[in-house]
Amino acid sequence: MSESTNESGSDAVAADTPAAKTIGDTLLDVKDLRGGYGPIQVLHGLDFHVAEGEVVVILGANGAGKTTTLRALSGKVDSSGSVTFLDQEMIDKKTADIVRLGVAHVPQGRGTLPELSVEDNLHVGAYVRKDKEVNADIERWYDVYPVLKERRHQRAGSLSGGEQQMLAVARALMSRPKLLLLDEPSLGLAPLIVQDLFQRFRRINEETGTTMLVVEQNAQLALSIADRGYVLESGTISIQGNAHELMNNDAIRKAYLGV
Ligand code: ATP
Repeated sequence: MSESTNESGSDAVAADTPAAKTIGDTLLDVKDLRGGYGPIQVLHGLDFHVAEGEVVVILGANGAGKTTTLRALSGKVDSSGSVTFLDQEMIDKKTADIVRLGVAHVPQGRGTLPELSVEDNLHVGAYVRKDKEVNADIERWYDVYPVLKERRHQRAGSLSGGEQQMLAVARALMSRPKLLLLDEPSLGLAPLIVQDLFQRFRRINEETGTTMLVVEQNAQLALSIADRGYVLESGTISIQGNAHELMNNDAIRKAYLGV
């Protein structure tokens, strides 16, 4: 992957990034998804889909159910309805099987292993793989996140918040997922760091074709890299559209873009 500098001074998006990318068939198809925590129902029948190669964002206020949605897709909360991934029903599958099928989840709070080195965290991310290209992939993600290479022997717990988020994403990518679930990657990070982080998501999507489903409160930023999006309100989808439509939607502008 080549690094280059664009007009804004960021090196995150290579100048030779393809202008148009390929969007394929539906990869994830969610129908009437319901779920929650014991007697507390949080998701009240969600319908959405993600096509191969897309970056899709789910926007929503605090407590709307964004995290619960991703946790349901990863088999981490009790849920019902239908979640089809690569034509397989996932609703009753265990988390480990879902990872093996190609879904990687970067949870809120990042979930790296603080006592292990950066590089050991990346090896842990490859635990489902049996091929011999793990070291080559580590170098590939070091190319996208050079600071991780500089800190390869440091404890993950000693990294800054932004670096930990990069490590969490690189670790998830080490499983070579077909679908990457990102839970509020901007949380607690400074605006410039967040901007850089999101530009690199876009670069990874365009250069590797990795499909991404991002839940975010930072609508402006998320829509700037997304192809399509949904708004989640009280456990149901209230608005959907492509990123341009959502950016110009009055309700979204008022509620999430501060216009
Ligand atoms: P945030 O941006 O604050 O993370 P969110 O949109 O991701 O919000 P969720 O974390 O999915 O929302 O929470 C949705 C609802 O589920 C909230 O009312 C929350 O209090 C409740 N909830 C979340 N986790 C649990 C839990 N482990 N047990 C019981 N209720 C929970």
